[in-house]
Order: sequence, then C-alpha cells, then structure tokens
Amino acid sequence: MSKVRVRYAPSPTGNLHIGNARTALFNYLYAKHHDGDFILRIEDTDIARNVEHGEQNQIEGLEWMGIYADESPLKPNEKYAPYRQMERLDMYRGIAEYLVDQGFAYKCFCTPEELEEDYQKQKDAGHASTRYNLKCYNLDPHEVKEREEQKLPYTIRLHVPEGRVYEFEDMIRGHVSFESKDMGDWVIVKQNGIPTYNFAVVVDDHSMEITHVLRGEEHLSNTPKQLMIYDMMGWESPQYGHMTLIVNENHKKLSKRDESIMQFIEQYKDAGYLPDAMFNFLSLLGWSPEGEEEIFSHQELVKIFDEKRLSKSPSMFDKDKLTWINKEYMKTLSDEEIITLVKPYLKDINKPSEWLDTFILLYRDQIGYASDIVNYVDMFLEDVEITPEANEVLEWETTPVIAKVLLDNLPTEWTVENLKEAFNVVKKESGVKGKPLFMGLRVVTSHQNHGPDLMNTMYLLGRDTLKQRLESYVSKH
Ligand code: GLU
Repeated sequence: MSKVRVRYAPSPTGNLHIGNARTALFNYLYAKHHDGDFILRIEDTDIARNVEHGEQNQIEGLEWMGIYADESPLKPNEKYAPYRQMERLDMYRGIAEYLVDQGFAYKCFCTPEELEEDYQKQKDAGHASTRYNLKCYNLDPHEVKEREEQKLPYTIRLHVPEGRVYEFEDMIRGHVSFESKDMGDWVIVKQNGIPTYNFAVVVDDHSMEITHVLRGEEHLSNTPKQLMIYDMMGWESPQYGHMTLIVNENHKKLSKRDESIMQFIEQYKDAGYLPDAMFNFLSLLGWSPEGEEEIFSHQELVKIFDEKRLSKSPSMFDKDKLTWINKEYMKTLSDEEIITLVKPYLKDINKPSEWLDTFILLYRDQIGYASDIVNYVDMFLEDVEITPEANEVLEWETTPVIAKVLLDNLPTEWTVENLKEAFNVVKKESGVKGKPLFMGLRVVTSHQNHGPDLMNTMYLLGRDTLKQRLESYVSKH
C-alpha cells in the first residue's frame, strides 16, 4: 500500500470550530496510526468569505492541541506546493481547459438573471429540485465562437454523463451510490475564473496524492460530483469516509449560533482547558475505543485509533463529559503546575501571591477548567447572603458558645497552623463536637453551610472578616 496521505482542508472563513477540529483530529489520528502524513491545505477560493487571520487561527488552534501538519502553507513540500488554493489557479485552469477540449465541460454564457428566471420557472412548475436547462450545452461551435468574440462572461460547466451510477465504499457508511440522472450540469469554474470547491478539491487531492479523505457528512452529496471528475480524468479517487454530525444536548446539529456550547477551540484555550484533555475529548466525539476506558494520551490514541470504530450515528457534545475529562487531566498536574495554570485568571484579584496560591490549591479539585476559579472567589471578597439553611445553624444553641471561644482565641499571627490550634481550643473549651462544632464554625465564619476545608477557608477569609463576623454574631446572641 502507498504511504497514507490525508488532508485537513479548511476554508479560512473564521476561527477553528470544534466540528472542524474533530475532522482534523480524525484525519491526523488516521495518518499517524498508519505512519502517514497529515497535510493542511487552505481552501480559500470563496474570497468574499475569507477573514484575516483565518488561516493563522486554524493553525494555532491545531497546534495548541498538539496537532502539527507534516505539510502546510508554512511547511511546504516542493513536490506538492503550493498549499493555498488561490495560489493554484493555473493548475485548475489547465485541467478545466482540458475538460472543455475533451467535451466533458463547456462554456456557459447564461447570466445569473437568466438562470434565476429559469430556476424560478421550474419551481413554479412544481419541480422538487432545479437544474441547469442545458441551453449552452446545446450551442453549436459557431454560436460559441460568436459569444467568445463578444467577450461575454462565462462559467465552465461540467456535463453530467447520462445513465451513470457513481458508487464507492465509504469507510464509515459502507456502500454508497448516486445516479447521474439526479444531477444537473454544474459549474466548475466561476465567471471570475475561480474554481468551485467540488472541482478544485479533486485537482488538489489528486495532485497532492491524497489517499484517504475523512470529512463531515455534509459533503456526502458532493462526492459523486468529485468522482465524476476523477472518472473523466482517468484518475484514481481517494477512499472516502463521511463522519456523522455532532449534535448538542437537545440533539440539534451544532451551529455557530448555538450559545449553549462554546463553538471555537480558541474559547476553550482562553477558558483554560488543557489541550490534551481537548484532544482526548474530541477523539471520543464520533469514535470509541474497545472497552470502557476513556482517558487516553495523545500517543495512546494514535496507537489504538481504528477507523472501523468510527460511529455511524450522530455524536453528542456532552459538556459534563468534557469537564470530567479535563478534571482528570488536571489531577495529574503538580500543585506548582496548577498554580501556574490558574493564577493568570486571578490577575484582577487584589490579594498577596501567597493568598492566591492557597486559594487555588483549596479549589484545585473543584474547578472544571482554569478560569472556573473565578466562580469561587466571591465569598472571600464580599459579604455573601446567608441562605435559610445556614441561618438555621446560627440559631443552634451551641453556635454562640463556639463563636465566643473562637473570638477570644483568634490568632494574631494569621496562619493555617495557628487556626488549627485555635480550633482545638474551641473544641476543648466549649465541649461541643461533631456536626454542631464543624457546621457551627463554618456558618458563623463563612456564612455558608458547605465549602472546602474549614481551616483554609477561615484563613482565606482573613482575620478582619472573621473578627468582625464573630463580634457581630456574638453581640446578637
Ligand atoms: N473546505 C471544505 C470544508 O471546509 C473541505 C471539504 C473536504 O474535506 O473536502 O468543508
């Protein structure tokens, strides 16, 4: 078998979307599993939709996840370069001319208005789908020449052969076939000389010697068009696999407008998710390994990836699962690594560095991702409202007793160790123990009836806050 060569071919029309990141990932895993090459090609022919930094954002997003292309616009292999379609126009032009010369394609001089009018007529006549009326296919050579001399703008259209069946073995869906009678003649080169996606992609996949194409199922109906060109050119087509949709928790296709899920890789990076966790999570979105285990390193995934286990049904983007996976990866980090990861998100909190470190470590097992830390800081910075449950604890008859002893024994040197000692004094002098002791102290100091380790919580609340809360409570009880 020849060396596996796959490509990820984004249009630089926006940031790296999670759906595209998954496509890139599965191509990458497939290539690396088979010791093949992963190629990044930029499909920038839809010039009106290209955005500045679109290409850069794609590359940065992939590299953040640890996906490096073997070949790309920035890392060209001279044999296959260039890697941006707009730099390959000569190549497409040559092939388009060949197809016209061979009679597979023809110049179409119909204006957009004429086409629109004709499509409207077909719709009015109740046709379910509209197709080109073959007007320019039926021009005789002399009529074509006349139009050429008038320099009328034209597109190049491919003539769909009659009575043909285009079929292939999809790596995911198995046997797929389309009949040519269901397709109308389609444009391969637009009036501005720029090729359409279905044409350019074939020229590129062929000339870059792509062996396998894994892409989203929205491209399934494009495949017969592409096969048509392979057939006309006498080229061998790559093997195709069309991956199923990613859906949200309401089983709706992920869409860039869906605000219930962060849609772009950059957002996960900015929120402080770990790249390896994201890599792991995306690998399970439409693929599953054998067995129950779900946490796999980059290298393990490369090793165990098996395209036969790509899912045939839609895969749900489960945010809780992502959080769980991210937490599993955070668990493997040392305290120092967690602090380095999380601290930047607390840059606006005006507290000493040591306070921030203690705070971060206190919540390291609670947070789902680095920036989640900010959701825990309020209770240390402002007076939070006391809940009815917490209020009940303040009414227990033991609570004023322990509050008074703690107030009398608040350490002057403010350390967790000294607070532990003060706690032992409270326990001994008040004679209160168990839940009334712990819960009482927690509520009277933090105004919450649950939270992380009590000594650290009291330490972080600070001496002034504790003193003021205890005094106020004791004076009323
Ligand atoms: N540029 C196309 C896209 O972004 C690539 C499709 C393909 O892989 O053939 O959807």
